[in-house]
Parts: sequence; structure tokens; C-alpha cells
Amino acid sequence: MDCLSDRDMETLKGMCSGGVIRGVDLSALSHWRIGGSADLLLRPASTAEVIALRRWFFSRDIPHVVIGNTTNLLFADEGLRVPCLQIGQALSGVGIEGEEVFAGAGAWVPGLARTLMLHSLSGGEHMSGVPGALGGLVCMNGGSNGRSVGDNVVSVESVDIQGTLIIREPRECGFDYRRSVFQTNGEIITSVHLRFLPGDQKAIRAEMLADLANRRKKFPLKEPSCGSVFKRNAAMYADIGPPGAVIERLGFKGMCVGGAMVSPKHANFIVNTGHAKAADILETISRIRDTVFARTGYRLHTEACYVTPEGKVLPVDKVL
Ligand SMILES: Cc1cc2nc3c(=O)[nH]c(=O)nc-3n(C[C@H](O)[C@H](O)[C@H](O)COP(=O)(O)OP(=O)(O)OC[C@H]3O[C@@H](n4cnc5c(N)ncnc54)[C@H](O)[C@@H]3O)c2cc1C
Repeated sequence: MDCLSDRDMETLKGMCSGGVIRGVDLSALSHWRIGGSADLLLRPASTAEVIALRRWFFSRDIPHVVIGNTTNLLFADEGLRVPCLQIGQALSGVGIEGEEVFAGAGAWVPGLARTLMLHSLSGGEHMSGVPGALGGLVCMNGGSNGRSVGDNVVSVESVDIQGTLIIREPRECGFDYRRSVFQTNGEIITSVHLRFLPGDQKAIRAEMLADLANRRKKFPLKEPSCGSVFKRNAAMYADIGPPGAVIERLGFKGMCVGGAMVSPKHANFIVNTGHAKAADILETISRIRDTVFARTGYRLHTEACYVTPEGKVLPVDKVL
């Protein structure tokens, strides 16, 4: 990154105790194991560090991007030319007071679900198999079995582009099916206040184990992927079924483009068989969308997001 001098790098290291790394191979970092090189990765370890970094970048007019555990992201083959803030393990503390849960946005979601179970708190069972970090989950309003994390949010702490701390109540978060305001407002989520109900630990544990077993049976969890590529569409679901079933009926299971393959186990998963490029995934998604539209009249929209070299994060179908 040409705009940053060695002195700037030293300043950034002083502001970001979780790590500042140059030249990160995104195909090693990302869950899909795809992407070129990222010029600069920063791992802030507190809200104060996120505020300081944002103020520093804002005062220099340096665009940057935020990522969590990368489980919903497709990085460009050209890599990433802007600084990338990863909210992960360095910002992942969890505190529990009765039914109130205060968690850093970097908390690993399956670990958080387990902690809730150990405290006999019910309502987080559906998150046990979602492999993201909490900030990413809130941004995507992710979840499963008809539930979403937004159902349990009391407030979200975030930092805007200028480095101002913001606390949002749920009604200000714009939660909807796999949607929230954080997908477009440029804020970085730093911590989340959640509330769960007291429950029976044995029953919670049994539900989590059943969910995980069901996922192992249904989903190709051994190969790199981003989970479900396409979002459910209510009208299409009622008419002809969920995306996976429709894509399967159209004969896509096992179809390969370069190193990308429509999973023979679940047609809404596109797996990386070894050396897939972002271009292979884009082509696969494009072929599926075109065929589904031509044969059913429904336009599929992607849950998976594409990260451009300039750090824009867009649903993949917006870049085809
Ligand atoms: C095997 C597998 C199974 C999956 N199953 C499910 C499932 O059942 N249900 C489901 O909903 N999803 C599922 N997913 C998708 C994914 O795990 C979720 O969307 C997850 O919540 C994304 O979290 P992340 O930390 O990986 O975010 P990332 O993929 O890193 O980022 C996703 C989005 O969140 C933004 N973001 C990340 N962190 C922050 C932050 N701190 N502040 C503001 N914005 C942020 C990013 O900019 C990006 O727009 C699955 C994925 C895989 C690989």
C-alpha cells in the first residue's frame, strides 16, 4: 500500500495491539480459501482501538473494509488494496450477568452458543453451527431454523466512519431476513448486548447436538465454502421450494467450473475443490441464476458477498 510510509506502519502498530500484518494471502485466511493478497490486515483488540484506527484513517481519507471470520465472503482474485480490519479473536470477550450477555463482536458464534448452554440460557441453540464471528452474524442477521440473532439483540455498539461510538437499539438496526443497517451504513460493530431466557441445560445441549448432527448430514462441511450461496425467497419457496431443491432439480449438483463445484451433497453450497478462483465461483453463480430464471421465472439473490479490491462488500449477484 503505497500511501502508507514505514512511520505510518509504526503508528498503526502502536494503535492496534491485536496485530498489523502486511501482505496477507486471502486464499489462506478466508473460509472459501479464495482470493489474492491483502495489502494490510489489522486486528484491533478493543473498541478504543477501533475508534482510534477509524479516526486515523478518516483524517487521512483512507478507505478501509471490515471483515469478521470471512465465512460469508468471496475475495477478489486481485486481492485487496485497502486496509482490512478483522474483528475476531482479539475482540471476543464474553460477560454474562443472569440473562444478559455482553459479547465482543469478534466472539466465535459456535463458542458463544456453547457458553450460553453452559449458563443454561436458551435461545442461542440455532447459532451453534454458524461458523462466523458475532459482528458478522449481526451484520447478516444470521441464524437458522427460522431464527435470527436479531431476535435476541438488546443493543449493538458500533463505531462509524469518523470514529464516533454509537449504541443502537434493535429498532434502529433494521433487522429483517438476513438484513441489517450494518450492511450499508459503514459502521463497525464492536460489541453486542444480547438477552436469552433461562432454560434446561440438558434440553439446550440436546437441541444443539441434534442441530449439529443434522448439519453434518445435510451440508458439505469438510470442503471450503461460504455456506448457503443463495437466499431463500418466500414466494419462490411457497411455489417451487427452497433454492437448494430447485437448483438440484435443474441438474446442477456436481457441476464444476474450474476449481468450483456445486456440492453433490447440497446444491445451495458451492465448494472449493482445491484451487478455485473467485472467477470460477462467479461463473458458477451466474450460470445457476440464469438457468433458474429461464426455467422458473424467479431471480435468485445471493447471501454470499463479494469483496472488491477497493474494499466494497456487495452481494455477489450485484457484481455479475
Ligand atoms: C459451513 C457454513 C455454514 C453456514 N451456515 C449458516 C447458517 O446456518 N445461517 C446463517 O445465517 N449463515 C450461515 N453461514 C454464513 C456465515 O457463517 C454467516 O453469515 C456469518 O454470520 C458471517 O459471519 P462472519 O464473521 O464470518 O462475517 P464475514 O463473512 O467476515 O462478513 C460478513 C459481512 O459482515 C460484515 N462484518 C463482519 N464483521 C463486522 C463487524 N464487526 N461490524 C460490521 N460489519 C461486519 C462484513 O463486512 C460483511 O459484509 C454459514 C457459512 C458456512 C461457511
